Amino acid sequence: MTSDVALSRCMECGNIIPPGAPFAQCPICLVKLALNVSRTRASRSSPVNAVPASEVNTWFADLDIDHLIGAGGMGAVYLAH
Ligand SMILES: [Zn+2]
Repeated sequence: MTSDVALSRCMECGNIIPPGAPFAQCPICLVKLALNVSRTRASRSSPVNAVPASEVNTWFADLDIDHLIGAGGMGAVYLAH
């Protein structure tokens, strides 16, 4: 007896895509894609977007901004005297 459901194969890895797979996509490749996206986002959250300490120094007349301590999605932290 043959099955009515046509099994399709993943174009990426060649695995059989199960009939009930979400978005009719290969589950293995979806997981790989999700892992890659989260890694890419994590590596992008570097202090690249932080304002240089020398510029922040001009905003606060009473403070001496020494250097950038850290930066993330919520903002940046500087050492000040
Ligand atoms: Zn695949």
